Amino acid sequence: RIKSVEDKVGAFSNIFEEKALEQARKIDGENNEEGRKNYENTGLFGVPVALKDNIVSKGDLTTAASQILKNYVGVYDATVVKKLKEAGVVLVGKANMDEFAMGSSNENSSIKSASNPWDLERVPGGSSGGSAAAVAASEIPVALGTDTGGSIRQPASLTGTVGIKPTYGRVSRYGLMAFGSSLDQIGALAKSSEDLARVMQIISGYDENDPTTADVEVPDYVSLLEKDIKGLKIGLPKEYFSDELDRSIKEVVDKTVETLKKLGAEMKEVSLPYTKYAISTYYIISSAEAASNLSRYDGVRYGVRKNDENIEEMYVKSRTEGFGDEVKRRIMIGNYVLSSGFYDAYYKKASQVRRLIRDDFSRVLSEVDLILTPVSPTTAFKKGEKVTDPVQMYLGDIFTVSINMAGLPAISVPGGFVNGLPVGIQLIGNYFREDLLFNVANKFE
Ligand code: GLN
Repeated sequence: RIKSVEDKVGAFSNIFEEKALEQARKIDGENNEEGRKNYENTGLFGVPVALKDNIVSKGDLTTAASQILKNYVGVYDATVVKKLKEAGVVLVGKANMDEFAMGSSNENSSIKSASNPWDLERVPGGSSGGSAAAVAASEIPVALGTDTGGSIRQPASLTGTVGIKPTYGRVSRYGLMAFGSSLDQIGALAKSSEDLARVMQIISGYDENDPTTADVEVPDYVSLLEKDIKGLKIGLPKEYFSDELDRSIKEVVDKTVETLKKLGAEMKEVSLPYTKYAISTYYIISSAEAASNLSRYDGVRYGVRKNDENIEEMYVKSRTEGFGDEVKRRIMIGNYVLSSGFYDAYYKKASQVRRLIRDDFSRVLSEVDLILTPVSPTTAFKKGEKVTDPVQMYLGDIFTVSINMAGLPAISVPGGFVNGLPVGIQLIGNYFREDLLFNVANKFE
């Protein structure tokens, strides 16, 4: 399948053809009673998986779609990779992405930009656009992605796949190239909530290499999929359904709401008043963290080094040539909001507002079990349409960024189509209630 469609889709930044075949042969060799015992109940024995190109795997190129890491080979396996390998998967390649996960369209990849399999002239979303496109085009049944402000859910919505961003701390970030450390989470995309549940079952859990992971039991997601949802309380936040929301998208949401009501769920209007500050707060905090995290790419320790007479020039040249425009923009915003004189007005203020956004969710989630919203204000847009207008691109993240700032789990589930293009529905749950997200997603996907 990859051979027949990848030329058009561009979902992969790198395919490990030889290595994957070798691994598959090894697994075939173990496909006997003795061998299968080692992988008992993982549900992933022999399943091909793609990793977003910011997740490190030993001996494989891992570039974050950046020129500054174009020759970087992982020296160890990320915890999620280690767990997947132990479950018997075949790693097929690295999925294309926006450089360092900054973007919503895949157009910030320095390698090539992936296309949306539903309409090749349109974007697959971002930044995990390659992961989403690979799944949507049936090149792979499941791909890992990362989500700092919507990068799993928005591409899932735009490509008609199911994508989850777990609770902050649910999945180890050890071996993930950091963007915004207090927001980043690894999750996955697949064609069904069941496939997704199986993968999340394997990669979730406490990890001593990531002190932000939580030691909270991971329930058996698959066995909870079929649970009845009668009496479940679902909140519809009025700020997410303003007049600015496209009517056709609203209709898809309404249809899903009706389906869930028929299954016995109760709907309730709720309010998240700080939503209006979400975009500015997110772009201040995420850029501040990015500026700090990306200072490690100095031409000395990783990737490409541009030689020069003195060390100062070497740093400048390596970073000037190595980073793309969007990454430079974030580094400049980040350093500006952290600089003395502006810190109180921007970074400190944003951190305070973040707390209020989080409190909004805590209050609402003490009254309802789940929150249901759209994922993206639009369906997949045309390539080139927004790329010259970064603010326009940022505004498209309005329904996803707050969830990262609150650290909550959320899933994007296909709800229907508008003009032949998929529309996702977002379900937001309380901390560590991924089980409920899979359970409800399973009722209408
Ligand atoms: N589109 C958002 C951004 O560019 C989200 C990115 C992400 O979740 N990695 O920052």
